[in-house]
Amino acid sequence: MPAALIDSHCHLDFEAFDNDRSEVLQRAKDNNVSDIVIPGTERIYWDRINNLCKSHQQLHACYGLHPYWVNKHNKHDIEILKEYIGSNRPVALGECGLDFRAQQADKKTQLYFFEAQLNIAINCRLPVIIHSVRATETVIETVKKFKDLTGMIHSYSGSSEQARQLIDLNFYISVGGSVTYDNANKIKKVAKETPLTSLLIETDAPDQPDKKHSGKRNEPAYIIDTVKAISEIREESVERVTEQTTINAKNIFGI
Ligand SMILES: [Zn+2]
Repeated sequence: MPAALIDSHCHLDFEAFDNDRSEVLQRAKDNNVSDIVIPGTERIYWDRINNLCKSHQQLHACYGLHPYWVNKHNKHDIEILKEYIGSNRPVALGECGLDFRAQQADKKTQLYFFEAQLNIAINCRLPVIIHSVRATETVIETVKKFKDLTGMIHSYSGSSEQARQLIDLNFYISVGGSVTYDNANKIKKVAKETPLTSLLIETDAPDQPDKKHSGKRNEPAYIIDTVKAISEIREESVERVTEQTTINAKNIFGI
């Protein structure tokens, strides 16, 4: 029996899966995916995640306020998040972080929500799932300010050098389908140089499909193609990459 795969980041609660969620879960199982971690995005969707994870033991909940939807959060949501986490213990807080794409210009508000959530994570002793787009340097500066923080940088897009700094700060580097594309030199370098003990794998489904499923809805069953790409880049067996990334996911999420 080969080691099972863990999808460390998948939005299985999204509407994109409403019509065939049980088939998606079955295909994941058929493709040796044992566990799926579902990150939170907005307060109104936490119950959806909670209910889904309560009825499927292979699904693991996280609650947080995603920086991409920063305009939809209000400051009171931070208080509600604290309470929600207190009564519905998740495997991590998130996703939270910074997204500095042009349309997401309100950096100050993003930083406010990011730091407030890092505080909660420390107080609740939870790992954090960090979303970082064009913001890796600021993410590094920010997490440095918080002692005893741990977590993952999901769908990592920074450099190998920045990855090393994040690993020193107790973070895992999570790699998704982007590594399968021919011209993805930066993430391929990260996948090669990051110690296997600091690597996680994810789909970020329904988004970010790998090359083989480009243009289609992504789903957890496809994660094997990302593992295959990583194992080729690293010149290590699929089995070894699977085994270690699963150990890493179990470590960070306590599953
Ligand atoms: Zn996500």
